[in-house]
Amino acid sequence: MEFQMDGYCGLYCGACPAILETTSGKKDTCHGCKTDHTADHCAACEIKACAQQKGYRFCYECSEVKSCEMLRTFMFDERYPYHLSVMKNMDAIQQNGVTVWLAEQEVRWQCKHCGGSFSWWDETCPQCAKPVASYKADL
Ligand SMILES: [Zn+2]
Repeated sequence: MEFQMDGYCGLYCGACPAILETTSGKKDTCHGCKTDHTADHCAACEIKACAQQKGYRFCYECSEVKSCEMLRTFMFDERYPYHLSVMKNMDAIQQNGVTVWLAEQEVRWQCKHCGGSFSWWDETCPQCAKPVASYKADL
């Protein structure tokens, strides 16, 4: 089962509940935005379609990234406040490379107490119930 945790927009798929229910073996929902097996929500993503069409691995490769309405709407969607982290994520990917960034994200989204994974939304670890840093820590 192959996973790819970097989204075109700079989102870290590894902290998504759809990925977590897949990696934990509950349901086979999603393997990441850049794979052929994504959640319905992300299969229809217009940002992804745009990046693919232009041949980019990340939106920052595009000269219109700072003014892109599609990306702005996505970022400031109040239903998904963790989207606000994508610019910061893309800066880090640009600076240190995606491999380093993915390794950092993997650690960032692991509970420091038990090593279990948690999602953007979790304020406490789903495994051990100790406090964890939700998406809010990245804003
Ligand atoms: Zn834990």
